[in-house]
Amino acid sequence: MAKLELLKPKAKEFAEKLRDECKKAGCDIIFPQTLRTIAEQDELYAQGRTKPGNIVTWAKGGESFHNFGVAFDFCPLVNGKLDWNNLELFKKVGAIGKSLGLEWGGDWPKPKTDLPHFEYKCGFTLKDF
Ligand SMILES: [Zn+2]
Repeated sequence: MAKLELLKPKAKEFAEKLRDECKKAGCDIIFPQTLRTIAEQDELYAQGRTKPGNIVTWAKGGESFHNFGVAFDFCPLVNGKLDWNNLELFKKVGAIGKSLGLEWGGDWPKPKTDLPHFEYKCGFTLKDF
């Protein structure tokens, strides 16, 4: 499991707030992904393209907000287990995150929709990083 400490302070604050708010709403979440290095991102990008597996990302190294510590992915916990297919819970957490001021990947148009993804950019673009 990825560490929230790897995130930028503001993004970490949001992640913790989100976890608290979800808990209040009766839903446990964890954060399987926070910071990725550029090399890790390139590795991930290769999956489903030059390497076997399903496509899991649309961003090359340096193109993802994960590379700058301002994005994190969550997954709902149901009975202590990760539940990646629980659309209802993803939507619920997505709404909570948005109410806190986060951008939710679940709002992105297909095929880039990214249900577990949140980012907080403080108004910056990738170029700024
Ligand atoms: Zn993500």
